[in-house]
Amino acid sequence: MSSEMPSALPENIFQLIFEKSPGSLLVKADLPKFTILAASDAYLKVTSTTRESVLGKGFSEVFPEDNTVFNVETNARNIFTKVIKTRLKVDVPNYRFDVYNPDKKICEIHYWSCSNTPILDDNNEVAYILNTVIDITEEVKAKEVAIESESRLRLAAEAAALGTWDLNLNDQTFICSPRFVEIFGHHPETVVKLADISQQVNADDLQNIVIKAYNEALITGKYLYEVRVYWPDGSLHWIKIQGIVLYDEEKKPITMLGTILDITESKRDEIRKNDFIAIASHELKTPLTSIKAYIQLLSRKLSSLDDSFINNALLKTSYQINKMSDLVYRFLDLSKIEADKLQLKIESFDINKLIYDVIAEADLVNPGNRILFAQQDVIVVHADKEKIEQVISNLLNNAIKYSDKGSIINVQSQKIDGNVHVTINDKGIGIKPKDQEKLFQRFYRVESEKMKNISGFGIGLYLASEIIQRHNGQIGVESKEEQGSTFYFSLPLPD
Ligand code: ADP
Repeated sequence: MSSEMPSALPENIFQLIFEKSPGSLLVKADLPKFTILAASDAYLKVTSTTRESVLGKGFSEVFPEDNTVFNVETNARNIFTKVIKTRLKVDVPNYRFDVYNPDKKICEIHYWSCSNTPILDDNNEVAYILNTVIDITEEVKAKEVAIESESRLRLAAEAAALGTWDLNLNDQTFICSPRFVEIFGHHPETVVKLADISQQVNADDLQNIVIKAYNEALITGKYLYEVRVYWPDGSLHWIKIQGIVLYDEEKKPITMLGTILDITESKRDEIRKNDFIAIASHELKTPLTSIKAYIQLLSRKLSSLDDSFINNALLKTSYQINKMSDLVYRFLDLSKIEADKLQLKIESFDINKLIYDVIAEADLVNPGNRILFAQQDVIVVHADKEKIEQVISNLLNNAIKYSDKGSIINVQSQKIDGNVHVTINDKGIGIKPKDQEKLFQRFYRVESEKMKNISGFGIGLYLASEIIQRHNGQIGVESKEEQGSTFYFSLPLPD
């Protein structure tokens, strides 16, 4: 094969190519001078030099060490010497060499990656060294920012006592922070496997919560649940796990990552509060039932007296007692739901008749409102009648409570696609969209000027939603502020 230059190429083509190449410098192996023989335009630009001022000069003459962060390993003369001695290419992947910026008249910090390739003569000695450099300042700075923000994030997580975790969904590799391990009752430096940790989770929670949440997260992209775990010493702890799913370009889930928090203390507080509510409402129930029975007896006995004051007083007392026992039963239900002990007594009944009865009762207690319900055909449902009555009564009483006296309330029931849909519409104060999302949460009450004089505990809608969910139904609201609200629920009809 001929080594001659093809005649079609101009004579100085390789010099031109060299001069146009990114960051190249050719020095002679004339240790210790290292005479500069050629430099590319890019090299001259980044070093703020000109070809005339560098060619023929010694490397150290042009690039004195005083603007280098001096390091024996990255010092150019040392590297060139090493290349000559070893006859091998020497790479320096990351070093700092500051460059004078004539426009700003300051020396700027720059990071470089360079390689130094020996060019051998006929005697196999190094004749020249090709020094190619790439400016990696931007990459280094970006990495520094990323490292700093990562360490800040880690500090924030540590300050909040949060553990962090990361699960690769392809190979199930699991990485977690020392705090994560600690939350599971191990020494922070213990290396734990996902399988071992899973065994610490309460078996029911693992089946009913963790696996369900995992499968849902693959679809929704979010992961949030609370579970009970047992520490190696046998003690019970509550943890809250939160996370997100990352997907690849084809929307395939690749990683799940997030945080974990020990919520044992707040959970114990919650359990204590729940126990208190359960005991208090249970203790109140007995005397209330007895007062109620005596009021009924008295009403019956004294009705013949025809004393309007006594009759009126007894009616009002009875109304207040009913209100009170309603509240006590609600608190009792609340504590049962919290302890997962709410039992449904399923029976068949006509929901339209039930709606009618609840309206009649509400009319009796609040005679001023106009509640419209065009009674329709019988719609038989399989459900807990008492609990569904509680739901309807709560929605209806709210419609009365949160609208002007005398305004119209529309109640409707309809069969749609194997379900019965019940809607209760009022022309009352309405609800802002941001509150609508939270209404069905426990103890949630809208905070507004209008609400200041309306009493309540914010448990009615929570109970209604829990009851409907336990019947495999749906509950919701549509509302516009100042215009009114429509609360609805649906229940599946028997086949
Ligand atoms: P309570 O009425 O005892 O506060 P609920 O759980 O029944 O508790 O209702 C929660 C909140 O929802 C109420 O505090 C109120 O702000 C809002 N709300 C419920 N029903 C209506 C309605 N029909 N119109 C406007 N706001 C309502």
